[in-house]
Formats: sequence, C-alpha cells, structure tokens
Amino acid sequence: MALEMRDRCERCETTELPPDAAARICVYECTYCVACSEAMHHICPNCGGELVPRPRPAARTDTA
Ligand SMILES: [Zn+2]
Ligand SMILES: [Zn+2]
Repeated sequence: MALEMRDRCERCETTELPPDAAARICVYECTYCVACSEAMHHICPNCGGELVPRPRPAARTDTA
C-alpha cells in the first residue's frame, strides 16, 4: 500500500496541510506545518532528518 499524502501536521495534529499549503517534510515523509518545523529547528523528531519545504503538486506550466 502506497504512502498517502498526509494532510495534517504530525506534531500539533490540528493544522491542516492541503496539497497546496506550505508544509515541511522529512526524507521519510513525516509532515509538519511551518510553525512546528521552526519550533523543532527543522529537524524531524521521528527520524532526525532535516525538514525541507514540501514540493507543491506539479504546476501546469509548459516548461520544457
Ligand atoms: Zn504543526
Ligand atoms: Zn521523519
């Protein structure tokens, strides 16, 4: 079963993170809101990985 795109911050579990919202993820796809990421100094508490900005869904642009 494939990993699902999480739509809620794993730390505060109250901040909803729709696909086009600003969010932070680690290499194992732990997902956090920006506020929690900053509070954790951009380090994932689950795996110790660096939290980076989550890429947004591919925009419909014709960049070749
Ligand atoms: Zn949060
Ligand atoms: Zn993690």
